[in-house]
Amino acid sequence: MKVISKINELRENLKVHRMKDENIGLVPTMGYFHEGHLSLMRKAREECDVVVVSLYVNPIQFGPKEDLKDYPRDLKRDAKLAEKEGVDYLFAPVDKEMYHDKLLTYVEVEKMTEVLCGRSRPGHFKGVITVVAKLFNIIQPDKAYFGQKDAQQLVVIKKMVEDLNFDIEIVACPTVREKDGLAMSSRNTYLRSEERNAALRLSEALAEAERLVREGERASDKIKQVLYENISSESLVDIEYIEVYDNNTLESLPEIKGDMLIALAARVGKARLIDNVVINKED
Ligand code: AMP
Repeated sequence: MKVISKINELRENLKVHRMKDENIGLVPTMGYFHEGHLSLMRKAREECDVVVVSLYVNPIQFGPKEDLKDYPRDLKRDAKLAEKEGVDYLFAPVDKEMYHDKLLTYVEVEKMTEVLCGRSRPGHFKGVITVVAKLFNIIQPDKAYFGQKDAQQLVVIKKMVEDLNFDIEIVACPTVREKDGLAMSSRNTYLRSEERNAALRLSEALAEAERLVREGERASDKIKQVLYENISSESLVDIEYIEVYDNNTLESLPEIKGDMLIALAARVGKARLIDNVVINKED
């Protein structure tokens, strides 16, 4: 595995593969790898001739009061884990390489970034979409792999790809959970042990909501109410939102139909956690 920090060097390397007609898979990450990240790399390894993992804590997707400085980082450990998964290139640029001083161009997806996490994190998706568009242009992958864990990010990136005609297939990968159900996240490292226990309530409540839907419940308000009651009885969890949305348009769904997304965000101690379930009409 080559660890590369320069855009031009990466491009030169990838040119050789493209000339051989090899297909390229990209897994964009902010590092501090856990099984969630590794599952994306495995999927890419299965499906692509060349696997590129980008590792970049993107400053423009963090708000001024967010955890950019504290975000966990360990390049050495990450490089070992990626190499074990058979990754070919780990692209780990520094800020100066990704953003020169006077960036004036951003990519934005309207409307669907104003809901859910976009409401409490203004500018977050503008930062995410801009860096993903830059990575797509730098690497020009055939496929790019994203986790269902970040449900809104996935929908918004698919929309950008559709709207701007990127010739890239977006592959959605299921949320990887700890044995007890907690969705894996680099931010779980912020949790103290009693907070870790409290955070479990999120995945438990979502599993119960899913059960209700499968048993025939169709009213979103009822589902949201059950989730609120279940989660708010845990005093260490501070709910930010619980929503039931259409998983393709991110519009509110009063009555359950089609592909539905039940998504939530909550603060537990220092950590802001998100989790969701998607229920498809065919399920
Ligand atoms: P991050 O490093 O947190 O920006 O995540 C990089 C990629 O890994 C994104 O596509 C995430 O959705 C995905 N990811 C993060 N956590 C998980 C998880 N628990 N299961 C599956 N994918 C995940």
